[in-house]
Amino acid sequence: MTFFDVQRVREQFPILQQQINGYPLVYLDSAATAHKPECVLQAMFDFYRSDNANVHRSAHTLAARATHKFERARQRVADFLNARSSHEIIWTRGTTESINLVAQTWGRRNLQPGDELLLSAMEHHANLVTWQQIAIETGAQLRIIPLLENGDLDMQAYQNLLSARTRLVAVVQVSNVLGTVNPVAEIVRLAKQAGALTLIDGAQAVAHAPVDVQALDCDFYAFSGHKVYGPTGIGVLYGRQELLAQLPPWQFGGEMIEKVSFTETQFSLPPLRFEAGTPAIAEALGLSAALDFLCQQQAAGAEEYQQQLLQRLLQGLQQIDGVSLVGQPAQRQGVVSIVLTRAHHHDVCQLLDAQGIAVRSGHHCAMPLLSQLGLAGTLRISLGVYNSEEEIDLFLQALRQALELLH
Ligand code: PLP
Repeated sequence: MTFFDVQRVREQFPILQQQINGYPLVYLDSAATAHKPECVLQAMFDFYRSDNANVHRSAHTLAARATHKFERARQRVADFLNARSSHEIIWTRGTTESINLVAQTWGRRNLQPGDELLLSAMEHHANLVTWQQIAIETGAQLRIIPLLENGDLDMQAYQNLLSARTRLVAVVQVSNVLGTVNPVAEIVRLAKQAGALTLIDGAQAVAHAPVDVQALDCDFYAFSGHKVYGPTGIGVLYGRQELLAQLPPWQFGGEMIEKVSFTETQFSLPPLRFEAGTPAIAEALGLSAALDFLCQQQAAGAEEYQQQLLQRLLQGLQQIDGVSLVGQPAQRQGVVSIVLTRAHHHDVCQLLDAQGIAVRSGHHCAMPLLSQLGLAGTLRISLGVYNSEEEIDLFLQALRQALELLH
């Protein structure tokens, strides 16, 4: 077993040092949002305390300092994703907005009747609904790649669906319901052979393993700050520079212009072209600090440590009567969904909460997947770098008790 000093990690999260309903907080809902370490809180506090000014506007010292830090944060994200340049990094409010940006710019401009969009059956509504609506608007068709029994993507069906009509393959890297890790490099390679663009929803993936957009060779990659120990209200769209250069803006106003007259406007080059209005400056700095934190944890073995926690959780769950796993993917990260044969997931969720244990119950913004599986909802347990073996055991014990009580 790798030694990962989880106690030292936990000390960096003030929110974990509290009791909920009289019990120490056991937070197993990091897939919904992760908590923020002290360094992230400090980065945001320091900005407001010492550097607060708007970016890319004034000539005064504070404005220059704020702009410098803001652009340095963009470079931090570029380095984190191994993008070729910080010009490939667009700030958004999160994964949802990143995907909407691609749909509203590339999608609206390029899609037409006869075109096809390939999505998987395990997409979050952020990816699914966005492309579904653009398809309705443009006359393009959505094609859904089915899953295998175990919750893996059916790669053979994917290959069969790919054709000269496929314009975009938009898939999630790690499912927020099943925990499935999709073979995105292979998915991209096959899409490229068919001449299609690729968009990867990295919302759940980024927190669990390093991402290299050049190695993946994808055209777009989206993730949210709040799921990688950063603030809410900030996210990232990576886009290949040549592609971004061809896309029109989608929102208009300050920041995104080069020259304006009463009759026409010359727009900025990417990434500013896609960033109308005052951006989330403190949040960008917070995200940069979060990525520093995450990289430190990854270097200390966080990925392997969390895999060990997952195994402990899975083994424990398999020994509880009345619990069945939703999906047993070949490769899993961070997330486990279960169904309870003799109790309702909401009731169990509430009983666990009464003991300070936070898990999520519901459809997890993936209604079509759940209805395909014949489920109204699941109980989802998801991990972060701050979770400990003791917490997994506490959860398993509390789940056992809850099921006995409700039986
Ligand atoms: N995609 C996946 C796989 C997710 O898990 C989520 C959030 O749960 C999203 C997209 C949407 O992220 P956000 O709400 O931060 O935009």
